[in-house]
Amino acid sequence: MHRDSTSPADGNLDPRDWPAFRQQGQQMLADMLDYIEHIRARPVWQPIPAATRQLFHAPLPAAPRALASVHASVMQDILPHVVGNTHPRFMGWVHGGGTPVGMLADMLAGGLNANVGGRDQMPLEVEAQVVRWMRELFAFPDTASGVFVTGTSMANYMGLLVALTHALGANYRRTGLGEKGAALVAYCSAATHNSVARAMSMAGLGSNALRRIPVNAAQQMDVKALQRQIKTDRGAGRTPFLVIGSAGTVDVGAVDALHDIADLAAREKIWLHVDGAYAALGMLAPDIAPLLAGIERADSLAFDFHKWGQVQYDAGFLLVRDGAQHRAAFAASADYLQRDARGLAGGDVWPCDLGPDLSRSFRALKTWMTFTVLGTEHIGASISQCCRLARYLRDRVDASPELELLAPVALNIVCFRYVCGDADRINREIVADLHEAGIAAPSTTVIDGKLAIRAAIVNHRTQDADIEILIAAVIAAGYTYTKDPACTPLPP
Ligand SMILES: *Cc1c(COP(=O)(O)O)cnc(C)c1O
Repeated sequence: MHRDSTSPADGNLDPRDWPAFRQQGQQMLADMLDYIEHIRARPVWQPIPAATRQLFHAPLPAAPRALASVHASVMQDILPHVVGNTHPRFMGWVHGGGTPVGMLADMLAGGLNANVGGRDQMPLEVEAQVVRWMRELFAFPDTASGVFVTGTSMANYMGLLVALTHALGANYRRTGLGEKGAALVAYCSAATHNSVARAMSMAGLGSNALRRIPVNAAQQMDVKALQRQIKTDRGAGRTPFLVIGSAGTVDVGAVDALHDIADLAAREKIWLHVDGAYAALGMLAPDIAPLLAGIERADSLAFDFHKWGQVQYDAGFLLVRDGAQHRAAFAASADYLQRDARGLAGGDVWPCDLGPDLSRSFRALKTWMTFTVLGTEHIGASISQCCRLARYLRDRVDASPELELLAPVALNIVCFRYVCGDADRINREIVADLHEAGIAAPSTTVIDGKLAIRAAIVNHRTQDADIEILIAAVIAAGYTYTKDPACTPLPP
């Protein structure tokens, strides 16, 4: 371990030799731009060697180490072993690809090191502009409020807390849930993301108070069954207070019949929260927006900019139709957080009034810059392209006798499998083989009891050729397990 001129002087943690530091910084920037520009040439993922893991068991570093040496470690030990979601053949779960613009925005935000919990600063005006843009995109009223959070898991939890405050009155924040709280029940579909059940537990309502309504063949909530369940619950003395609709389920990308659910919620006077984690931003794509009809009727809407918006992690968002209801759930006074008419403590509503966080990073900048530099037409076109590629993959699956489709393709997610042999086992092996070879990274899920290879096309870099590579690799890997002549491998 040695110090060099990029190491800090005692007491002050800035570099001693700024020119040397600057040069190293430029090298780091160049390396990351190279990485993104040439990502396609790399394996999607590489298993982590035990020795590399071991390197990160070194003790707390008391002495400085040269920045260049640490950067070399990042390039050698960390960079090759990330999840790979920037890669065009990453198709697992639902991960965004990010953009070079977002990366630079993160660097600018890091330099500013703004704490955007509140106070009178332009970073809050940037966040306010994104809130206005989202009101416009989702046709929410001017009184709607919005706030950046880590992700949709947090935004779903916060939406639930706003609905809970609406149901019990803000006084519950002092008294606790009480008897009225114990009677509350919420509804979602069997295909809803598990962050909603976790939100019920975290709110103290218990996940047993979440009714999982059955879905139809397209994995959409059965609205008639929802109506029956509400009636049953009311008959049993329970208080229905919240229904969670999905705009893009995590397994297959199904969009619930949001108008029907909104009609029912209005009749029953129940809060409608929509989990639009990845698909809500489909509103930016003219061919996808009509599929999301009814999303504009949500009382609260959770979604991520870091998925289909391609903004760097993390950038989740909660939009609430009635801003006053939103504040009623979270705002609290404190002597050290008083607002003033003049000076730095100016401003009326601060983001810390809209959620549990006080200190917050400037997530709005990377979102604002991604949208401003690329333009929403461009981002919308990348969303359309993902859905077109999913239909292309579906058609290729249909045309391949070795493969079968396991769910209809609603948006951008294709669930399929290799049909020969012990399919559950073989398809699990195929996916692991593809990961370990670095060829492609789909994930797995279970559809109607069958293990499915699940390809979610979320990356704006994915092209037709990547779909072809995926298909060929799945068939070739499947054949190695079955050697079944009915399942012929593609020519190499
Ligand atoms: C990704 C996802 C979530 C969770 O969002 P995070 O940003 O990962 O917290 C919730 N619901 C759906 C439908 C999702 O796709």
